[in-house]
Amino acid sequence: MLVNDFGGRVPEDIDELQKLPGVGRKTANVILSVIYNQPAMAVDTHVFRVAARIGLTTNAKTPRETERQLLEYFPPALLPIAHHWLILHGRYICLARSPKCGKCGLRDICNYYQELQHKTV
Ligand code: SF4
Repeated sequence: MLVNDFGGRVPEDIDELQKLPGVGRKTANVILSVIYNQPAMAVDTHVFRVAARIGLTTNAKTPRETERQLLEYFPPALLPIAHHWLILHGRYICLARSPKCGKCGLRDICNYYQELQHKTV
């Protein structure tokens, strides 16, 4: 399909990318930000969770809503790298079941952590 429909080039457009078999919105956004350095935000399970805990998103119930809010508030030039920040933070520090808040440099600005402190006081 890349050869026949796109002249042998990976498309730079999210709608065109999603026409490729196996490419959904998340993968399309990864391609846009990583290959083309476009201001796109791919939302996987880490990005979804970490953004909500810190308070970068509010009441986002779907990856699409998380994406919308992050796109609205992150400076566009930072979006491609911010995607990696959130994923790596979720993978190594802000773990799904037991976040390592004691080792986290974001404690002072994290909604989840602040709420936890109020509950335990
Ligand atoms: S303080 Fe805890 S919940 Fe907040 S971002 Fe860090 S690890 Fe995640």
